[in-house]
Amino acid sequence: MNPDFLIIGGGVIGLSSALELARDGARVTVLERGVAGAESSWAGGGILSPLLPWDYPDAVSRLCNLGVELYPHWSADLISNSGIDPEFQVSGMLVLPPVDEISAEHWCVQHGWRHSYEPAQQRVPGLAGNSSALWLPDVAQVRNPRLVQALRVAALDAGINLLEGVEVTRVARASPARIDYLDTSRGKLQASAYIVAAGAWSQSVLGEIAPHWPIKPMRGQMLLFKAAPDLLPHIVYRQSIYLIPRRDGHILAGSTVEDVGFDKSTTETVRQMLYNAATDILPTLQSAPLVQHWSGLRPGSPDNIPTIGRHPLVENLYANTGHFRYGVTMAPASARLLTDLIAGRKPALDMTAYQWTL
Ligand SMILES: Cc1cc2nc3c(=O)[nH]c(=O)nc-3n(C[C@H](O)[C@H](O)[C@H](O)COP(=O)(O)OP(=O)(O)OC[C@H]3O[C@@H](n4cnc5c(N)ncnc54)[C@H](O)[C@@H]3O)c2cc1C
Repeated sequence: MNPDFLIIGGGVIGLSSALELARDGARVTVLERGVAGAESSWAGGGILSPLLPWDYPDAVSRLCNLGVELYPHWSADLISNSGIDPEFQVSGMLVLPPVDEISAEHWCVQHGWRHSYEPAQQRVPGLAGNSSALWLPDVAQVRNPRLVQALRVAALDAGINLLEGVEVTRVARASPARIDYLDTSRGKLQASAYIVAAGAWSQSVLGEIAPHWPIKPMRGQMLLFKAAPDLLPHIVYRQSIYLIPRRDGHILAGSTVEDVGFDKSTTETVRQMLYNAATDILPTLQSAPLVQHWSGLRPGSPDNIPTIGRHPLVENLYANTGHFRYGVTMAPASARLLTDLIAGRKPALDMTAYQWTL
């Protein structure tokens, strides 16, 4: 029997959408051409907030804030359903100068975020400078490689049919208004409805069905250090560069936003730039071994606003994609909103900004 939904892409967005739909009683199959969660969702940093929220439109804030609100419960559910801890933790973020204090103040007050200014070393003793820094105590993080493992196991446990190593090569229409089937590396597959959650590849997988859809790959490179667990107590941000401490002492330093197409290689120039910036912020990192350097392709979208909803002309085609820099943060909210739309329930947010337009 054909499933109710075929989801193209098994990243954090495809898997969380599958889980929400399955909770609603739907029969769901996820098609993932590689291993679920091994692309952008693995490569990211896992900060559960826009880096500087006041730099983004309200549609980004609202979706991220809803995601953050859902995270504690979502993460606890994942632990009980998968046995894997995605290490959700409220680690707080210290924003080192320069800070646009007027915009930050306005945004924090408007969104009810606690905030204060403190000498930087009072929060993080190892920092190079001690200027006044913006302290955001409620910023949380998740260890995204563990999150995707937990989602994968929870999806299997929920009876979702996860087909890894299956690539969608064509989306075939029965008429201009209906998808008929998917051509895949495992033959033709059919469902009542189809959801595109293919991250940076979302536009290319649809081809002529969405020729001008502005979803495109945006590369981000990341470094990983291994330090002592107490070296860095909080997330630290300075001028586009952030340091994220994991519980076991690993520290991520990121990132870049590079418009280089589907090229997922890493570069020596960026390795050096990230290393210099990270050790300039936290000089003791010089004695921590650098253990990894990787890159991932974010699903870039204008203003970082994803598409969540039905295709304007094709009645059984939906999208949940284009989350760009904040897909890990937005995932639980985005999946919930899409599922509400599909079920005919009133979504928790006004969906106008996320509508699929041609
Ligand atoms: C360096 C970096 C740092 C980041 N930091 C953060 C952060 O701190 N906080 C945050 O919230 N977000 C962060 N992000 C962004 C976040 O990782 C992404 O927004 C999110 O992972 C997007 O999820 P996705 O499921 O849409 O995409 P992906 O994880 O890329 O998943 C898409 C999946 O679709 C599959 N696929 C593609 N084409 C096909 C096909 N034809 N057939 C079958 N399967 C297909 C791919 O194999 C892939 O597994 C970061 C990203 C990067 C790269």
